[in-house]
Amino acid sequence: MQIILMGPPGAGKGTQAEQLIEYFKIPHISTGDMFRAAIKQQTPLGLKAKEYMDAGGLVPDEVTIGIVADRLAQADCQNGFLLDGFPRTAAQADALAKILSDTHITIDGVINIELSESDLLERLTGRRVCKQCGATYHTVFNASKEHGVCDKCGGELYQRSDDTLETAQNRLKVYNDQTEPLIAYYSKLGLLKQINGDQEIKQVFSDVLRALE
Ligand code: ADP
Ligand code: AMP
Repeated sequence: MQIILMGPPGAGKGTQAEQLIEYFKIPHISTGDMFRAAIKQQTPLGLKAKEYMDAGGLVPDEVTIGIVADRLAQADCQNGFLLDGFPRTAAQADALAKILSDTHITIDGVINIELSESDLLERLTGRRVCKQCGATYHTVFNASKEHGVCDKCGGELYQRSDDTLETAQNRLKVYNDQTEPLIAYYSKLGLLKQINGDQEIKQVFSDVLRALE
């Protein structure tokens, strides 16, 4: 199963991805997670990505396309993958189309999770993430059992530095300008599956599975 997960920041992509990769037994390719790992390890890629991420902008296409191309070439992607947060620009979508056609891989579906702007801001500013395993929580909608502690691994929960109101607003603007046009692109290809993100996490998951049937 080859899936692309789209939607504005905060729509619930990462939350659904956690469940989809378990269900389909496929690797989770999140460019955001890859950049955050590089920042943590203080690699040259991380240092470069950080300045764009802190401002709520996009990491340049040539950098982003390169890391995705390398990741898709790895052995564990040969039986499927879940792309989360890529592509985000027309140039990334074109580059992905070329990689897929060169390797004779087809996409089963592009899942687009929709949510209103005010809900997105509420989701982003309340998001908490586990430092250790990356699991995602929300202070109100999906709280951990013990405050500040991950249910799954006991790790410490933190707030992403780009989840402040100001940076989140900028990310939504960047999404509207650069990523939203890709909805029409994938719709024309007949791949787009629209999902209502304003529902319980479980319901969104079952809608996603039904859309992929
Ligand atoms: P994205 O990966 O699209 O940026 P996340 O999956 O990280 O979004 O979700 C953003 C925030 O919203 C997180 O705090 C998450 O716990 C919460 N969330 C995700 N899905 C739902 C949902 N269906 N209902 C309520 N809150 C949700
Ligand atoms: P995310 O974890 O998907 O919310 O992404 C966090 C940040 O990483 C974004 O705001 C961008 O700065 C950067 N990023 C993630 N994916 C991409 C991408 N496909 N293209 C450019 N920048 C990206």
